[in-house]
Amino acid sequence: MHTVLDPATEDVVTEVSGTSAAETDAAIAAARRAFEAWRVVAPDDRARLLRRFADAVDGAIDELAGLEVRNSGHTITNARWEAGNVRDVLHYYAAAPERLFGRQIPVADGIDVTFKEPLGVVGVIVPWNFPMPIAGWGFAPALAAGNTVVLKPAELTPLTAIRIGELALEAGLPEGVFTVLPGKGSVVGARFVANPDVRKICFTGSTEVGKQIMAGAADSVKRLTLELGGKSANIVFADADLEQAAATAPYGVFDNAGQDCCARSRILVERRAYDRFLALLEPAVAGVKVAEPGDPGTEMGPLISAQQRDRVSSYVEGDGADVAFRGSAPDGPGYWYPPTVVLPGGAADRVWREEVFGPVVAVLPFDDEADAIAKANDSDYGLSGSIWTRDIGRALRVCRGVEAGNLSVNSNSSVRYSTPFGGFKQSGLGRELGPDALDPFTEVKNVFISMAG
Ligand code: NAP
Ligand code: MG
Repeated sequence: MHTVLDPATEDVVTEVSGTSAAETDAAIAAARRAFEAWRVVAPDDRARLLRRFADAVDGAIDELAGLEVRNSGHTITNARWEAGNVRDVLHYYAAAPERLFGRQIPVADGIDVTFKEPLGVVGVIVPWNFPMPIAGWGFAPALAAGNTVVLKPAELTPLTAIRIGELALEAGLPEGVFTVLPGKGSVVGARFVANPDVRKICFTGSTEVGKQIMAGAADSVKRLTLELGGKSANIVFADADLEQAAATAPYGVFDNAGQDCCARSRILVERRAYDRFLALLEPAVAGVKVAEPGDPGTEMGPLISAQQRDRVSSYVEGDGADVAFRGSAPDGPGYWYPPTVVLPGGAADRVWREEVFGPVVAVLPFDDEADAIAKANDSDYGLSGSIWTRDIGRALRVCRGVEAGNLSVNSNSSVRYSTPFGGFKQSGLGRELGPDALDPFTEVKNVFISMAG
């Protein structure tokens, strides 16, 4: 039994019982049986069911957003966007069953065609930082491609996933096609990895657990998509619109209280603009409204748990980091931590290298374009990043040089459901979202048909 706490108040929200290993195996077996019928649902009918599922989510936006505010401390503005993202991703992939094209390839003495076959049961393992969107990025394309899905939400944040599972049934998805199994990673998640009937795992979370899952998947050559950590760079050149770069930088890292794998938690500033940028950044950080997450004016809520707050604090108070300035946070109960800007001694500092996953950003200067690229790439991670400059050639050169999957120029936004998302290096394996996300949920089958008489 897991007690769900409201991170803004520490009040008990509800209790959720964890699925056992035996129950997990039974649910996987049911998903395996449901797959036989789901894979042969006519493409237009499967598309229609996914659109109905999207409509059911749309009708429940307020309810889902309210649950996320209480369970995760997300701001109501973000939580509404997150529920809407599940709807949009379902609508986007609802177009896929009727467009899952194979190829016809010229060969001698016959015809050759390819089919994109579904895999079977897909296990989706979701972290606590974005419970709704990350679930949808896995289950929507998986279902569209004809797979059935078992989904494990993070133990801390099961409530929206449980409700989305109910909405799927209400929308008419057959039993066993999409099953939400709350519980522990070490129990439910571990069974997903070990059970040979699960043919693919979509995992989002820490690099440490991602590596364990990759090793475990080797036993049955299980397919994998991994979305892991990040330490993304926000690179600001002196010729940029510094006012705009500084005004937006706090939101590029402090959104969702910094609990975002795309957080631009390293700011690199061209040396001749460094002092001016910091002078502009200070009021921008002070202006971030950290308050009760259900208030529509709030820009940042609490961290997810006391443990996460301790972890974040270990990089600042624990390491005696040089704090340049910080914003404010409420006193009293709740896992609050103020937006914090630190000036590391150099690129070896822990706060510069490790994923803090909280509202802490580190700033260092760089000398020129080559130095900016080298410093940005001096990381095991490579998920996202930003480049601020008015020189389009430089923007393109730096984009091509930075080893990261999702870059933005004069913007800090990384995620659109219609464009691919994923990481280089230890930030992950494979891509989610966008036009090609069906491929990793299918196997290509080649068939030769003889025309010999
Ligand atoms: P985590 O341990 O990697 O958890 C992610 C998901 O994996 C959860 O559903 C978790 O279940 C499950 N899990 C844990 N151990 C497992 C195992 N052995 N087999 C299968 N599934 C397993 O992440 P965390 O502990 O929540 O967070 C730790 C740090 O990871 C964060 O501070 C942050 O740096 C990073 N992180 C990154 C992302 C991202 O989006 N890239 C997301 C979350 C965390 P439980 O809920 O039961 O643990
Ligand atoms: Mg963990």
